Amino acid sequence: HHPDRSTVWVGPPGRQVPIGPDTFTFMAGPCAVETAAQTLEAAQMAASAGATILRGGAFKPRTSPYAFQGLGLRGLEILVDVGRATGLPVVTEVVDARDVAVVAEHADMLQVGTRNMANFGLLQAVGDAGRPVLLKRGMTATVEEWLMAAEYVAQRGNLDIVLCERGIRTFEPATRNTLDVSAVPVVQATSHLPVITDPSHAAGRKDLVVPLSRASIAAGADGIIVDVHPDPESALCDGPQALLGTELRELAAAVRRLPPVL
Ligand code: PEP
Repeated sequence: HHPDRSTVWVGPPGRQVPIGPDTFTFMAGPCAVETAAQTLEAAQMAASAGATILRGGAFKPRTSPYAFQGLGLRGLEILVDVGRATGLPVVTEVVDARDVAVVAEHADMLQVGTRNMANFGLLQAVGDAGRPVLLKRGMTATVEEWLMAAEYVAQRGNLDIVLCERGIRTFEPATRNTLDVSAVPVVQATSHLPVITDPSHAAGRKDLVVPLSRASIAAGADGIIVDVHPDPESALCDGPQALLGTELRELAAAVRRLPPVL
């Protein structure tokens, strides 16, 4: 029932960053917060490449229970300190409804990841939290199911929702997931909500981040969110998809060469 596409504002008063049809929002940061130094370095790389929102995982939803699960509350505190030091609002994932209050107390935007897109209790809890929400598409979800997940948040009175296409499972093993670029205009035809893409988590390979970012812009995405790490080889999470600072700046330049579809 919204005739115009919405803009979602992220960050504290005076430092709010728009995500919506009149702009192209570039978000970057480490996949996981590992140490204060690593997070600060990644954030400085993000800021110097022109990113306006810092991403970073403190609670990590890993496929294997034996993999690094994130630093939890300590990671959240590091991320927020680094966000303040670099002047960037922060987005971070919340994986459990019991953690929503503490994450909302610290972060500027709450992320619901692909594995939790249909966790309706979590969606309702983030809907109640009074923070903008970044809702990733479930890796096996249809666009309709994804939009219905957004309704769970909206139903609680929170319309500050940004949708994020992050790749879906297909028969093609060449990439970890297939970035469904068509989802961008499909969503925009039915929903007023901003939609961005995550080329890093889609492909799982850094060599595809630039072409997928360019494809996202060409398809009309309202932004991208990408991983950066000062030393991807030692990353505790998803190193192969993380860009170095120079590569992030090259990405920013490649992205700037393509005018957004407004
Ligand atoms: C992430 O962004 O850190 C993440 C785990 O993403 P996804 O839920 O898309 O896998």
